[in-house]
Amino acid sequence: MTITSTASSAVSATLPPRESAAHHGDAAPTASDLLRWDREHVWHAFTQMQDYDPLLIERGEGSWLVDTDGNRYLDGSASMWCNVHGHRHPRLDAALAEQAAKVAHTTNLGLSNPTTVEFARRLIEVAPQGLEKVFFSGDGSSAIETALKMAFQYWLQAPTPQPDRKIFVAIGEAYHGDTLGAIGVGGVDRFTAMFQPLTFQAIRIPSPGGPCPATGNAPPSLGESLATVERIFMEHRGTIAALIMEPIVQAAAGIYVHPPGFLRGVADLARRHEVLLILDEVAVGFGRTGTLFACEQEGVSPDFLCLAKGLTAGYLPMAATLTTPRVWNAFLGTHADRRTFFHGHTYGGNPLAAAVGLASLDVFRDDRVLETLPPKIERLREHAARLSRLPHVGAVRQCGLLAGFDLVANRATGAAYPWQERRGMRASLAARKHAALVRPLGDVVVIMPPLSITLDELDTLAAAVEAGIREATA
Ligand SMILES: *Cc1c(COP(=O)(O)O)cnc(C)c1O
Repeated sequence: MTITSTASSAVSATLPPRESAAHHGDAAPTASDLLRWDREHVWHAFTQMQDYDPLLIERGEGSWLVDTDGNRYLDGSASMWCNVHGHRHPRLDAALAEQAAKVAHTTNLGLSNPTTVEFARRLIEVAPQGLEKVFFSGDGSSAIETALKMAFQYWLQAPTPQPDRKIFVAIGEAYHGDTLGAIGVGGVDRFTAMFQPLTFQAIRIPSPGGPCPATGNAPPSLGESLATVERIFMEHRGTIAALIMEPIVQAAAGIYVHPPGFLRGVADLARRHEVLLILDEVAVGFGRTGTLFACEQEGVSPDFLCLAKGLTAGYLPMAATLTTPRVWNAFLGTHADRRTFFHGHTYGGNPLAAAVGLASLDVFRDDRVLETLPPKIERLREHAARLSRLPHVGAVRQCGLLAGFDLVANRATGAAYPWQERRGMRASLAARKHAALVRPLGDVVVIMPPLSITLDELDTLAAAVEAGIREATA
């Protein structure tokens, strides 16, 4: 005790006194205070803080974001892929306020809340058939951890237990989140390689959507990919717990679009080899690919469906892992049977988030949001075709209202830029000057706006991205 208190007083003695007035006086902090405090105190995700240059977004309105100086930007990344109906949507705002007037949070450990129950019911109604159970958590990574642990425990407790089923199969370049289990099945090595000693290793299938044709390495064909999946299932007969994949398009990998039939083929093989199928629709769920869920496009209903990002239309953190009665039943028993799923997240099923999620499904239904998408997807296709002719744009990949543009040093050879030049980031920062906020994936420039973006706004966004690319590759 003595040593501890001596040490801490020694530390505090070396610190300058706090400017208490500036920190919590009556005067609101100025924009320049906030910019400085942001740089001093806030550790930003996926950001090298040594060169961090703050941009403070104070307000939002539809597809637009407004900074503390009043500059307006189109939200070209849907606030990191989660905004669906635009910012400050009146119905979502009202649902949030209404719920706040009742209760903001109650636990879902052993008790419940009407709004959360109603939301679970509505999710089941819109989800692919067979999914009838909803486990709520707080973010996409947690939805993945939940599915991995449920799949593992399922095999221990299945009607005919198969305790040897412990291995997970995943797709190369996959991104499933940043927690340790999620990076175990992830494949974006530039982020995760150093953490390998802390994670379990999944078996990887090369992505049939990448690497991009621009580099000269053609991705494996549909037939080759499915043959690989089958070979792995045979080689590891009886030891694979589940296969996890992002259906139709791998977003964070660089917008890798799978060949048609891949999802269907994998799902059929998984069923035949008794491998559970986990679909990660954290990025693509809620309309991004043109259907409410991407897996609908190939008529696939998985054993686990992981949802987050768009689940609350980009308002609040919430995630859900949907599963089947078959999985649920394996966890039933008396307390003494020890079949309980001992896993949970404090804010799982939060009523404020559930209220907004519910209102978002109402908006999808009442405003026929999915029916508004085809002309926007077509307009994005036209812009993508134009941008694909820029001197330093290689491959362009689009899926629904989502497009990625590879920046390359040489279009003819497909040679990449040295990664240190950060051309993708430079193009994105240059686009800011033309009133658009986009965030790249390495040297892939990404357009992923809220689904509610108008055609005119889409034109403005594409023009800004084009200007940004021209500037960064001049
Ligand atoms: C963003 C994302 C995740 C992780 O979600 P978080 O809410 O950031 O934890 C998982 N899978 C996919 C496909 C994602 O795009």
